[in-house]
Amino acid sequence: MKKISRRQFATTIGKGIVGTSILGSTTLACGMENKPEKKKLGMALVGLGSYSTYQLAPALQDTSYCYLAGIVTGTPEKAKDWGAKYNIPKTHQYNYENFDNIADNPDIDIVYVVLPNSMHKEFTIRAAKAGKHVICEKPMAMNVAECDAMISACENAKVKLSVGYRLQSEPFTNEVKRLVKNKTYGDVLFVSSDAAYISKGDPNQWRLDKKLSGGGALMNMGVYSIQSSIYGTGSNPISVSAQEFSTRPEYFKETDETITAQFEFPGNTVGHMMTSHNVNANRLRVSCESGWIALDPASAYAPLSGKTSSGPLNFKQESQQKLQMDDFAKHILQETPNVAPGEMGKRDMIIVEAIYKSIKEGGKKQLLDLGNMGIVR
Ligand code: NAD
Repeated sequence: MKKISRRQFATTIGKGIVGTSILGSTTLACGMENKPEKKKLGMALVGLGSYSTYQLAPALQDTSYCYLAGIVTGTPEKAKDWGAKYNIPKTHQYNYENFDNIADNPDIDIVYVVLPNSMHKEFTIRAAKAGKHVICEKPMAMNVAECDAMISACENAKVKLSVGYRLQSEPFTNEVKRLVKNKTYGDVLFVSSDAAYISKGDPNQWRLDKKLSGGGALMNMGVYSIQSSIYGTGSNPISVSAQEFSTRPEYFKETDETITAQFEFPGNTVGHMMTSHNVNANRLRVSCESGWIALDPASAYAPLSGKTSSGPLNFKQESQQKLQMDDFAKHILQETPNVAPGEMGKRDMIIVEAIYKSIKEGGKKQLLDLGNMGIVR
């Protein structure tokens, strides 16, 4: 019988055109004439740092549409520990040099890039060239030009690309979007969004090294402030003005410590955002004509908490990473929408670049032309 790869199989069942003649009688046949077997895609995590260790790998034990199938690490001891802990065979363990051999591994469908920001572009493009779908952590890249190169590489390789925006799959966040879209409290007049934490760790960490991070708070928590300003208004901003503040220059030698920015949106809506590596703050407030919506926290891992002028919001608390990775796997398997496509990461990087430019120009207003990007969420 002709061998069918997992990718071909997934694509085939996703389109609902599987005939019994091509299905193996041992592995795949299970009353599939009408209802395809639930299929899980194999995922490889690239970079086994804190986010992979404490959030993604545990979440992958609970996902319904994908599972941890491989690892990519520069540290042999980690490969050994993870291999034992998660039952990952040596054939599914890679390092940064032999990573491209992943192309020959049919068990791995998705590569999840969880490396310092300066490495996102390289590993996204290498994964695409290996024929793998890609999730790339936020911020998508160091700049807009890198985002363009990553989007093109995935288009050329005909693989799907998503940014690790876990909140796009999170129920409180999606309720904010719904209330705003439905104008439940009338037009949004003002949005305020803060995403920040106090950094006191190793002064040599990559987040404080501009070559590896591309920037400070704005390139880290700042993307959440930008995103929630957008889903809190249901619009892309049309201008931004920004300011930077430094109170610990001895620690934040190369990267921004605190940034504030003001947005204008179409119509009568304006907004303010703050991000910092020197403040603890995590909230969103949407002020509308006849009421308000608030999340506090708004971008923590979990649990989020929300209220409106009509009362509290209540949703089941689930791992955001689980929901996010399942959403992307379903996008591949079932052609559901890609809730955080590469274009969204690029849109946010355009805003990041405009904020840095405004700061450089003493707070000068920067006009943004995001209307034709088709991404407003
Ligand atoms: P981390 O420092 O804990 O891990 C980074 C990993 O990259 C480590 O395994 C390290 O060994 C490896 N690495 C390879 N080359 C390196 C180099 N030259 N310098 C430093 N490390 C190198 O970082 P993290 O917190 O896991 O963050 C990784 C990525 O995930 C970042 O892009 C970050 O923004 C993103 N992230 C996203 C979320 C989220 O909520 N979506 C949360 C945390 C981190």
